[in-house]
Amino acid sequence: MGIEGVIKEGFVTTSVDKLINWSKTGSLWPMTFGLACCAIEMMHAGAARYDMDRFGMLFRPSPRQSDLMIVAGTLCNKMAPALRKVYDQMAEPRWVLSMGSCANGGGYYHYSYSVVRGCDRIVPVDVYVPGCPPTAEALLYGIMQLQSKIRRENTIAR
Ligand code: SF4
Repeated sequence: MGIEGVIKEGFVTTSVDKLINWSKTGSLWPMTFGLACCAIEMMHAGAARYDMDRFGMLFRPSPRQSDLMIVAGTLCNKMAPALRKVYDQMAEPRWVLSMGSCANGGGYYHYSYSVVRGCDRIVPVDVYVPGCPPTAEALLYGIMQLQSKIRRENTIAR
């Protein structure tokens, strides 16, 4: 039977990798790490106008229930150990999205003695969203880029 016949019979063939990746992209649960002004746009993305829930995304208050960390804002040296601790408590597979110039590289405070010049010095970052602050649309675009990245992952091998 050809593929058309299979579809006509109500079956779809796919690989386990693709099935797992599809389910992961449709149920990303972000652990919020709102640190400064960028967090306002992150909240905006989660509210009624942009409605992140429609992507299957629900903000979780616990790292143990989250698989995505959105680092939204300025990461100072004193907060860095807490960021790493929360990241370490998230179960695999997990991803990190760096939101805004401050999280990406220190931004406005790049030369400040008290600010980490990029959260990727503390946790591995999968997607960087530029802007000061990035708009809610930019954050959603970054999340869609992360979904594309997850779709390309070789989950079984990982
Ligand atoms: Fe605030 Fe701009 Fe830094 Fe975001 S990137 S935390 S908006 S100063």
